[in-house]
Amino acid sequence: MTKPRVAILGLGIMGGGMANRLLSNGFTVAVYNRNPEKAAALASAGALAAGTPREAASRADVVIGMVADDIASRNVWLGDNGALAGAARGSVLIESSTLTVAWVKELAAAAMQRGCEFLDAPVTGTKPHASSGELLFMVGGSDPALTAARPVLSVLGREVIHLGPTGSGALMKLINNFMCGVQAASFAEAVAMINAGGLDQERAIAILTNGAQGSGIVKRAAARIAANDYTPHFLLRLMAKDLGYAIDQASHQKLSLQTASSALAVFKQAIAQGYGDEDFSAVAKAFRRD
Ligand code: NAP
Repeated sequence: MTKPRVAILGLGIMGGGMANRLLSNGFTVAVYNRNPEKAAALASAGALAAGTPREAASRADVVIGMVADDIASRNVWLGDNGALAGAARGSVLIESSTLTVAWVKELAAAAMQRGCEFLDAPVTGTKPHASSGELLFMVGGSDPALTAARPVLSVLGREVIHLGPTGSGALMKLINNFMCGVQAASFAEAVAMINAGGLDQERAIAILTNGAQGSGIVKRAAARIAANDYTPHFLLRLMAKDLGYAIDQASHQKLSLQTASSALAVFKQAIAQGYGDEDFSAVAKAFRRD
């Protein structure tokens, strides 16, 4: 079977890895990035570097957005140079960025008006999983759209889970990430207590990571603290964005996410101290006294 042609909009930590993964699996890939230098780097690996999202989409059967937030997503999909304007009827448009449910639904309606299929398909996994095809896709949208997208998603992900209609993937991702944010913030506070109380940091953190509370996210943060390496795999400011989106979504559902609100305050403190462009695990530095 001929492989669908793919466009990737956004070549950051995740989109860049996904584009490389598709190229190394023999896909024809068009790429667009706001900062054209990242697209030029992919061009040397065989991608077609498009000057606009519209051009990238016009050369693809499946278009995947992987950008920072709602504002970035609007920028790449809408307008005269946006991907929607270039997408052919019958093409499959996928948003894999972590976005609000409201925007994803608006985008799905616009895609339908163009005669395109649409999926919200945000991911779990981080930098290494994006480039090795080990993401987990949480999908909202129709069965036919997912059937058409599967040959691409199955190369990018180890698992593709269909959760329901449009918006279901986006909602699940916000629930997933608000829990990650809460755990990372509570771990940062725990490390602050360990240090303020004079406990041996290494031994104390080993107890936390090996106990019931030692979730994947806590283990990841602990490894970064031990290595004193906060090179971003998932930017701290994007975790704050996800906490904010989850809090807003919950309030639409007449719920109040009190733990997420507290975690967001911790992340905002870290951003105010200049750690927003470091890995999310640098949230622990917000409590440093040195
Ligand atoms: P990133 O490295 O910061 O990349 C962000 C991308 O968005 C870049 O291509 C950037 O373009 C583009 N962008 C930002 N603002 C823009 C704007 N106003 N207009 C157009 N493009 C804009 O982020 P990432 O880690 O790849 O994350 C991408 C998405 O995946 C986010 O929604 C994130 O929450 C989600 N996610 C990330 C991870 C992770 O572990 N990293 C895991 C799961 C989900 P420039 O290069 O020009 O700045």
